[in-house]
Amino acid sequence: IVISASPQSDMLNIIHESHLSIEKMKSHARSALFWPIINSDIEQTKRSCATCAKHCP
Ligand SMILES: [Zn+2]
Repeated sequence: IVISASPQSDMLNIIHESHLSIEKMKSHARSALFWPIINSDIEQTKRSCATCAKHCP
């Protein structure tokens, strides 16, 4: 296992891989790993994603 310099970003990328809804990403994150500001991180990732913006106006 390679320890990344930014495991949180890696996690966000993994849970965001299939552009799930915010709620699905949050529950996925809870089942795998959790850190205190994950909810805002997920929402920020979602907001900055062009694909998600297209699917969820
Ligand atoms: Zn997305």
